[in-house]
Amino acid sequence: MPPDERRTSVNRRPHPLAPARGTRLLDTDLAGMLGALLIFVIGVWVRAGGASALAHGWTAAATSITEVSGLLASAAGLVGLVLVGRPRFVERHLGLDRMFVWHRILGELMAVLVGVHIAAALVEWSATGGFLAALQDLTGRQPYMALATVGALLIGVVTVSSLASVRRRMSYETWYFVHLAAYVGFAMSYGHQIVRGTLFGDDAVGRWAWGLLHLAVVGVIVMRRWGTTVRAVLRPLRIARIEPVSPDTVAVHLAGPGLGAIKASPGQFFFLRPLRARWWWQAHPFSLSAAPSSAGLRFSIKNRGDASGGLATLPLGTRVAVEGPYGTCTPETIADRKALFIVGGVGVAPVRSLLESLTAVNQPVVLFRASSERDLVHLDEVRALVEERGGTLHTLVGPSATLAIRDPFSASVLRRAVPDVADRIVVVCGPDRLVWAARNGLRGAGVDPSDVHYERSWW
Ligand SMILES: Cc1cc2nc3c(=O)[nH]c(=O)nc-3n(C[C@H](O)[C@H](O)[C@H](O)COP(=O)(O)OP(=O)(O)OC[C@H]3O[C@@H](n4cnc5c(N)ncnc54)[C@H](O)[C@@H]3O)c2cc1C
Repeated sequence: MPPDERRTSVNRRPHPLAPARGTRLLDTDLAGMLGALLIFVIGVWVRAGGASALAHGWTAAATSITEVSGLLASAAGLVGLVLVGRPRFVERHLGLDRMFVWHRILGELMAVLVGVHIAAALVEWSATGGFLAALQDLTGRQPYMALATVGALLIGVVTVSSLASVRRRMSYETWYFVHLAAYVGFAMSYGHQIVRGTLFGDDAVGRWAWGLLHLAVVGVIVMRRWGTTVRAVLRPLRIARIEPVSPDTVAVHLAGPGLGAIKASPGQFFFLRPLRARWWWQAHPFSLSAAPSSAGLRFSIKNRGDASGGLATLPLGTRVAVEGPYGTCTPETIADRKALFIVGGVGVAPVRSLLESLTAVNQPVVLFRASSERDLVHLDEVRALVEERGGTLHTLVGPSATLAIRDPFSASVLRRAVPDVADRIVVVCGPDRLVWAARNGLRGAGVDPSDVHYERSWW
């Protein structure tokens, strides 16, 4: 074969995509940023005489509490907004799941602080004209207060809709769109923070700094959250192939020139947004089920509802915006450690892609749990990859009630199946119940919690 021809054929061979960019961020950096914000907020309050007012009678104390609780509520909201803005350097360190969990905790903290803020303001304003007059002032008679009241109500609605018992009864999409109202509520309360009270009125430096902080957070949301979506929509991939891999799961292959802009590693996930009528407004997370390469991205998608079931029915060539990648469990996490994977059903997807990048050094052991044989998705591929790397695959099939072992992930069962379990790095992927059971068993078997990697449930 002439040399030129050979080069062409070599060039056409798929090559792995460049790995996702890392971050040098440390926990201490994050703690430093949060500490600086807290010092700023408390500093503004102290400068305005808030701390000394606590000792000057209950009306002055109520004013002081109103102000500090309002400021802290806003600070919690700002940090929560940064987290959903998904800045890459934070995501690569914490993982999107932890960011969303912290976003939820901060949202709950903000709601409590807004409650304290309103209660203290009612006490303070009742002192001059009574409770009813205070209520009228707070809900609109004073400038900017009508907006702030609507804002607080929206935050209240979102808090109630996010309570686990209420959330469980809503579809993800309904909850998500109700949830967006919190951002409107947050924006509506900004005016009264600057105009009302004594905190920023006489403190030009504090006022500017507070305004700039809000602008920076808006910048993060616009550039990272919306910017990521816009970039993905402008550089979509196309559905190149859809193949059934079990009665309710399909492997969807996406390809196209947009791949050139994607840096991703095995084990990561993307939000997929099909660019078709009825579909474009929702994006759902799916993990790579094969190492990402210039040939395309593969996702294995189980039919669990409208979106996941519908993806299998889309015509070939459909444009799909892929937003991501996200996820911190990549081949670098495993490095040259011996690895154990505990997977359930379609949770095997990210593990299947990670296995491709491992070597015999990792001696991978895979414990594959499924409720029926047909749910052992990609079983042959997993077996081949494990055997090539000198590892072991164990399958455990059947509904939990029919299993001979009551807890297949108890410490004793894990130790028996994987005698060196305590020396391994462990990746757990599957439904929440499996993740909890496996984490408990692993702890009992002496695995260091920092060696156990899993996605926290964010919904
Ligand atoms: C990090 C991550 C990786 C995932 N990887 C895979 C995968 O490789 N293969 C696979 O089949 N499934 C995967 N899933 C689950 C998949 O995202 C859901 O099955 C899908 O979003 C369901 O949407 P639906 O409209 O079809 O069903 P619905 O009936 O709307 O939802 C079914 C369940 O899926 C969850 N869900 C729905 N939408 C979302 C969302 N946008 N974000 C988070 N959870 C949601 C909810 O728990 C809901 O109860 C993954 C989920 C996460 C969080």
